[in-house]
Amino acid sequence: MNLPKPHKNITLSRLALDFYQFFRAQSFVVRLFGRQFHPSRKYVEIDVTYKCNLRCLNCNRSCTQLPSSTEMPLKTVEAFVRQSILSDVKWKRIRILGGEPTMHSRFFDIIRVLTDYKKNFNPDVRLVLCTNLFGNKVKDILKRLPPEILLKSTFKTSKVNLFRPFNIAPVDTAYNKFSDYACGCRIIEDCGLGLTPSGYYVCAVAGGIDRVFGFDMGRITLPPPNDSMADQMKIFCSLCGHFGFAWPVKTEKISPTWQQAYERRRKEPIGLTIR
Ligand code: SF4
Ligand code: SF4
Repeated sequence: MNLPKPHKNITLSRLALDFYQFFRAQSFVVRLFGRQFHPSRKYVEIDVTYKCNLRCLNCNRSCTQLPSSTEMPLKTVEAFVRQSILSDVKWKRIRILGGEPTMHSRFFDIIRVLTDYKKNFNPDVRLVLCTNLFGNKVKDILKRLPPEILLKSTFKTSKVNLFRPFNIAPVDTAYNKFSDYACGCRIIEDCGLGLTPSGYYVCAVAGGIDRVFGFDMGRITLPPPNDSMADQMKIFCSLCGHFGFAWPVKTEKISPTWQQAYERRRKEPIGLTIR
């Protein structure tokens, strides 16, 4: 197994970009210049499961706050490949994530579907597995990966990490009073479209928000290029701590809207439509 260099989520240049995107998403700026970000047709992230062997504070898929054993059916990955071929979308990069993706019970079947897609249709695509690289079980699985799969990891060693405060909902903050949530954030372009067990989202983070709030807004099929997905951004970005700028934290931060959503969901688990 060729280990990658540890990836850093938080850097000074990214914080500067976050600050700029906060300014750029103010309604009066958007009226002048339009929206900064648009759904990606280059990159896609697939959240194959919300199972995880770590319980990080402020996890942006809520694996700690609302643990789940949901897995994406294999047929969803197969349908994604089929639709990509039919729509002639040549992804530049496909990331496989979770949760911890290696915990999916059919992990190697998913890998096979994606490597077949690379071999037969899109040899230039970069297939990247994002893993926490935590624990012997995960490491043993990674040793069996085919060479086409590249690794990305922040090499987590504990549940305490420097993260953006994902659970501080912008709607709970005064400084976002004039923000246009339909602007999204740079994750849309940097990370790409999200495919989750409940469908396609403007980013995979939005799918993780939907599983807590239960709007069930995942698109059933690959969104066409003229789908702005602004309806999703208006809702999910108003709840997402990645929107605009926020100081990274190591301690758990949860604003009232999220607190209520988690409490509601713990009492009444919902089933989003598994696509
Ligand atoms: S390893 Fe990743 S998915 Fe798992 S709890 Fe930590 S942040 Fe969430
Ligand atoms: S849901 Fe969060 S991560 Fe996704 S575009 Fe909106 S602010 Fe960015």
